[in-house]
Amino acid sequence: MEILKGFEVCDGIALGNIHYLKSIAKKEISDTKTADATAELVRFELAKTVAKTQLDRLYHKALAEVGADNAAIFEMHQLMLEDLDYCEAIADVIMQNYTAEYAVMQTGNTFAEMFSSLDDDYMKERSADVRDISSRVIDILQGTQTLKNSVDTPYILFADDLVPSQTFELDKSLVLAFVTAKGSTNSHTAILAGIMNIPAIVAVGDAITENLDGKFAIVDGFDGVVYIDPDDETMARLTQKKAQTDAKNTALQSLIGTQNITRDNKKIKLYANIGNVEDIDKVIENDAGGIGLFRSEFLYLESKDFPSEETQFAIYKKVVEKMEDKRVIVRTLDIGADKKVGYFNLPEEENTAMGYRAIRICLTQVDIFTTQLRALYRASAYGKLSIMFPMITALKEVVEIKNILENVKKDLRSEQVPFDENVPIGIMIETPAAAIISDILAKEVDFFSIGTNDLTQYSLAVDRQNQNLQSFYDPHHTAILRMIKYTADSAHANGIWVGICGELAADKTLTETFLSFGIDELSVSPKHILELRNLIQKADISKSNNIYKI
Ligand code: PEP
Ligand code: MG
Repeated sequence: MEILKGFEVCDGIALGNIHYLKSIAKKEISDTKTADATAELVRFELAKTVAKTQLDRLYHKALAEVGADNAAIFEMHQLMLEDLDYCEAIADVIMQNYTAEYAVMQTGNTFAEMFSSLDDDYMKERSADVRDISSRVIDILQGTQTLKNSVDTPYILFADDLVPSQTFELDKSLVLAFVTAKGSTNSHTAILAGIMNIPAIVAVGDAITENLDGKFAIVDGFDGVVYIDPDDETMARLTQKKAQTDAKNTALQSLIGTQNITRDNKKIKLYANIGNVEDIDKVIENDAGGIGLFRSEFLYLESKDFPSEETQFAIYKKVVEKMEDKRVIVRTLDIGADKKVGYFNLPEEENTAMGYRAIRICLTQVDIFTTQLRALYRASAYGKLSIMFPMITALKEVVEIKNILENVKKDLRSEQVPFDENVPIGIMIETPAAAIISDILAKEVDFFSIGTNDLTQYSLAVDRQNQNLQSFYDPHHTAILRMIKYTADSAHANGIWVGICGELAADKTLTETFLSFGIDELSVSPKHILELRNLIQKADISKSNNIYKI
């Protein structure tokens, strides 16, 4: 038995045979020279035409199945295939009498490495795209079978890393789990696995090789461990763990349609966190009462330029309409720090997490902010919309925001554009300063949502992205719990409601503690909704002894 360890990004247990997906860097292409460079140039041009036809087909398939935002990637790949620098670099290698596939591989690798060495996160991601299009052209040149038509029984997908077009072409009903050598907890694999709700482990390292192809494996997405050719004891233990997980999930389904009420009659709002429109299917499937955090920055991260008012309006409108009479809380742009977008031209900074980000950008580049607010207010005419602001540290920021909101509303009124005059306005409590002055801030807004991810980072002075500091990143720290309690008390003393939308909201060891603090709402990934409902229904706060002493 071989045991591999990585970072768990989606829990669950999967058992099955490994299918190893080769990446372009691993493709074996000889560097033998050919005499006929002209013929190779023609082969390359033909392969490019076929690739573009395939990408066009994929674009239309994606458009119909997952919407314009997700389909845009295939449009971008078509453009990249036409990129002059890329094509000329390939032609140069061919002119040195190498084969077309060798030229594409060489150029693809060089461009990918160049992109990944850049500081800009957006450009780094283009590295995967250039590998993706190069791989497609090589497959066409070599007549290689794709995964899609070569495997028809369920399998565990092993790969170096996964790129968007590979994952889109997969028959997802056959994929039992993802295991990748590279990737991070924020990678495309992680996001996709979260939405598909299948076990996934990333950053396993060099142990992921083609030699594992076809072997039997068990993926334990709870502990981030993969067992290759498991021994009898491991097989028995994990089969039992899987049976327990399956039974628990089946039992939870019976809670659909029931209420989130404790035994002592406290009703809790159980909402979901989403990043884009496609996530709403999971929100509805898991019976969430609303959307407690729509991270609107994903809209900006997925665009090549500032999304227009019309584009944003169409998306927000779709979200509120899909959620029908349920509340949707959209958080305004929270760009900066780990979420970099090239076209914002943000300055290089020493301490990005404490730098020019989120509301600081919105309050200094008011045109960007106004575009988003106009789109949001216009969408408010079509459903139950609330707006929330990130990274607040001071009263004056809230006052400034409210002035800008009034201007936006005034303009819409004079343009006779319909909108809801009473859109509830909330702020995120995710800095220690905001928590400590929450008694003052509560007088200005309709609700609070506590962002425990950043609150932990800023309170404990621990960079949340730094894997080496994981053991110091302790959201259970008494300081954090005290701030949550104080924020809840401040909210209630001023007659407003308070929720938690950071990852801690899904921490089941704290559910009773949060209820005892009087937290009114928990907003979590859709997959946690039913499990939390189960805990809430069993809780009796007046009798609970599972409450943290703070
Ligand atoms: C948080 O900080 O807890 C939060 C919900 O926001 P994000 O994770 O998007 O920074
Ligand atoms: Mg945050």
